[in-house]
Amino acid sequence: MRIFTASLATESNSFSPIPTARKDFESTIYFPPGTHPDRATHCTAPLYVARRRARQEGFELIEGSCFWAEPSAPVATADYESMRDEILDQLRAALPVDGVLLGLHGAMLAYGYDDCEGDLLERARALVGPEAVIGVELDPHCHLTEKRVRLADVIVLYKEYPHTDFVERAEELVTLALASIRGEIKPVMSLYDCRMDDLFPTTREPGRSFVERMKGLEGRDGVLSVSLGHGFTQGDVPEHGTRVLVVTNDAKATGDRLATELGEEVRAKRGTWRPPYLDAGEAIDLVYGRAWDGPVVVADPSDNAGGGAASDNTNVIRLLLDRGVADAAVGPIWDPAAVAICHAAGVGAQVTLRFGGKAAPTSGVPVDAEATVIGLARDGVQSFGSAKVSFGDAAGIRVGGVDVSLISHRSQALGTEIFSAVGIDLATKRYVGVKSTNHFHAAYAPIAAEVLYCDGGGPSPLDSRKYPFRRIARPLWPHDDLPEGRLLV
Ligand SMILES: [Zn+2]
Repeated sequence: MRIFTASLATESNSFSPIPTARKDFESTIYFPPGTHPDRATHCTAPLYVARRRARQEGFELIEGSCFWAEPSAPVATADYESMRDEILDQLRAALPVDGVLLGLHGAMLAYGYDDCEGDLLERARALVGPEAVIGVELDPHCHLTEKRVRLADVIVLYKEYPHTDFVERAEELVTLALASIRGEIKPVMSLYDCRMDDLFPTTREPGRSFVERMKGLEGRDGVLSVSLGHGFTQGDVPEHGTRVLVVTNDAKATGDRLATELGEEVRAKRGTWRPPYLDAGEAIDLVYGRAWDGPVVVADPSDNAGGGAASDNTNVIRLLLDRGVADAAVGPIWDPAAVAICHAAGVGAQVTLRFGGKAAPTSGVPVDAEATVIGLARDGVQSFGSAKVSFGDAAGIRVGGVDVSLISHRSQALGTEIFSAVGIDLATKRYVGVKSTNHFHAAYAPIAAEVLYCDGGGPSPLDSRKYPFRRIARPLWPHDDLPEGRLLV
């Protein structure tokens, strides 16, 4: 048995001011064949898992290139094509194969390509033929297009948000693909379009129970896998929105019925999945207006680099400084120039520093401050589950009662190392502001007395009606009254 594996992934924000080129993949994650480390990163989990399973079960794994870039605007056309063709050339050289395992994200766009994953799958299918088994792992923030579902044999999405289960889901994907190659199962997929867009954290209800419900349905009555495609709010493409995918063992009617039933449940609970969020000033009032038994973590999803924002919006920091608060920390602010100045000045130095507010009109205005450099880090790395994510060189500064983590490689707050690596002790803080939508929750909830969400006025508000969509298929809730849901595949 011969299986080829590769990974090509990013999450493209149609409204991001930051362009995405091949060099952005190469400076984040680029593992040509044979160079992938022996640990999983999100989108390369199928390779990591298949490598171990190949050793245990004695099949031959041919490793192709793996690419990942931090979310930003759609990828430059020629750069997307060069990465796609690099993988396809490797696949062509590996033929014949019995299977292909791809670690994709599912919301990657390139100029001229609304569905990069569908395009890659179409070309891969043309190479390997109809008999080979193609298995795909996707991030739930994907555009789960009909084309992909028709071209792949098995698709499994992460269930958790924060996405802490990427290795477990890759294990399931590899298990199902191997069983299919061995003729033990015949996977068929059913796809239900909820005709809505929402945010589905699984750290709160009803998302938490829905994950358990999906898991409880698997492994019986011919149901192999159940996934919720949340959709990616900032992707302006026709097949935008929430979809339910059910994989059965040759039981299409069961899959159709279940996908419809789950999809209707998701629709009925629309608007209740997302956390309530406050105005940034209200959040500060709440944190400083009463006693708490530890730090209050206040997420600002509107400036989440993980969704394509610049992560250099200064609105929340300005509010904290204007109010003269004590014991606040905010991060990360993406500002390579300010980081370089702090590194040149050294720990303990007082610097007149301009930071943040640079990348776009939605960044707010820069902060000019007398800052003390309180910590420096080279090649900083934060933890997210078993993954290690770079934030580059970094600096911690103190401005009045506010400590700020400045980073040089754009990333959202995932692990607490964003702060601890640059001399900021979160345990002593009252207000901990993080730029992230929900991935922060895995590392930060355990240190928090309370977790709040605010709208800091950045480029990615939680309210999807605030985006200037031009291409999404309407009607779609919440932009329109809820239309009928529909079974697509
Ligand atoms: Zn995601």
